Amino acid sequence: MENKKALVWLRDDFRISRNNALIYASENHDQVSAIYIFNPEEYENKREAQRWWIYHSLINFKQELSKFNISLELLVGDEVKVLNKIKNSEEVSLYWNKIPEPREESKEKKIIKILDEKNINYKFFKGNILSEYQEVTKDDGTPFKVFTPFWRVAEEVYLKKVPSRDAKLKKKNKKIFIFKQSSDLSKVLPNKNWFKKFEKYWVPSEINSDKVLKNLINKKINNYHKTRDYPSVEGTSKISPYLKHGQIHVETIWKSCNEIENKNTGYRKFINEIGWREFSHSLINYFPKMLKGNLRKEFDNFPWVENKKYLEAWKKGTTGYSIVDAGMRELYETGWIHNRVRMIVGSFLVKHLRIHWKEGEKYFRNTLLDFNVANNVASWQWVAGCGADAAPYFRIFNPILQGEKFDKDGSYVKRWVPELKNVPAKFIHRTWEMDEDTQKSINFKIGKDYPLPIVDHAKAREAALKAFDKITK
Ligand SMILES: Cc1cc2nc3c(=O)[nH]c(=O)nc-3n(C[C@H](O)[C@H](O)[C@H](O)COP(=O)(O)OP(=O)(O)OC[C@H]3O[C@@H](n4cnc5c(N)ncnc54)[C@H](O)[C@@H]3O)c2cc1C
Repeated sequence: MENKKALVWLRDDFRISRNNALIYASENHDQVSAIYIFNPEEYENKREAQRWWIYHSLINFKQELSKFNISLELLVGDEVKVLNKIKNSEEVSLYWNKIPEPREESKEKKIIKILDEKNINYKFFKGNILSEYQEVTKDDGTPFKVFTPFWRVAEEVYLKKVPSRDAKLKKKNKKIFIFKQSSDLSKVLPNKNWFKKFEKYWVPSEINSDKVLKNLINKKINNYHKTRDYPSVEGTSKISPYLKHGQIHVETIWKSCNEIENKNTGYRKFINEIGWREFSHSLINYFPKMLKGNLRKEFDNFPWVENKKYLEAWKKGTTGYSIVDAGMRELYETGWIHNRVRMIVGSFLVKHLRIHWKEGEKYFRNTLLDFNVANNVASWQWVAGCGADAAPYFRIFNPILQGEKFDKDGSYVKRWVPELKNVPAKFIHRTWEMDEDTQKSINFKIGKDYPLPIVDHAKAREAALKAFDKITK
């Protein structure tokens, strides 16, 4: 017999639709309350950008839940300690959706132990993923390390299950508060206010994530395969921060894509990217050592370089390579960065500057609104060549040619590096080659108005290859 009261532990699930834990609680209990636990340890100087997103998500979701007579309380502290305060005498059942990450899973295990000891009723549900990682393996039960065979099996496994139940949240008669000590929501906001600018670009809410999805289905997906690599075109969905914080469930994205009648190459390519997200999650769960270091052990001997000056130039977008600088400035200004440019700036850091990928991973974690540990770690290791199914280290992105190919007229660069706005397209990705007359004609001086390249491409490439040779011998 279940209790009258239910408590839903909200994490990355700021949505009504396909929120299995919340819906189950509303279907099986007279009264439902939700709790969000903000653990400063996980965020301070680590995930500052996401604090802004969470703050707005809390404000918005509190209002949405209120329409169903469900309260939302914010508690600040360690999740295990906070949930340990629930007493058996309160006669409350606890529900949550899982997060498919090793660290979160170990928290869940601790909580389950406490709940079992106290004889408190609980139930948990699949997280924001198509399939649990244990469901997708090779025939012999071992995990995949290569994307294509992984995704062939993962799609099949998922297709056998769909469509999953999409029940509605039930309105309750009366609001209840379990903890009765909700903190002020502003406790979640970061201390510095550089994030203020994010307001120009994002509205963190479930309604808005639905708009983003509709925009993808109605306008973008048909040409996704053609436009997704061009950062000046809004060719990708930009759904990642919503997906990270659970304003949308990946099954909802999948379902909308599958309802498209003419499934062309754009559709296929997009679904593959969803596949990469599943793959990253599978990797970090099967190979949790990846979260701490290289998946490919030979990289443990790679002669990384420590250079604070270069690292700062990379972070600030003052390397003198305009596509790299544009990307890093887009990131700081908007909390998001285009995938093609993530690869370019990533490659520049680990190959041209030979700075450890972990430095890049750390900076992205702090500044990305869509940071998720699986995609971030797996992608950084993919870029560095030390991950699963990774780009080989010796394939070094040339930032000049990448710029000329994917931002031919320089409009992306000019948007984010305004000091280059008058530079002719011919020089936009090789500003140092601009002759004196051209510089004068646009009232611009290289080295003064915009930095000279901090490293020479050809020399940096050679040095990277030499360093790589050391670990392959
Ligand atoms: C160095 C580096 C770091 C990255 N860090 C993150 C991160 O912290 N969080 C994150 O969500 N993505 C990360 N990515 C992957 C990718 O760049 C983003 O998912 C994508 O740019 C998000 O924009 P979008 O929603 O418009 O993508 P779309 O192109 O519209 O793709 C739709 C969704 O598919 C998934 N996806 C797309 N590309 C990838 C990919 N290469 N790997 C895994 N999943 C993918 C994302 O969930 C994305 O939202 C990283 C990539 C690189 C190269």
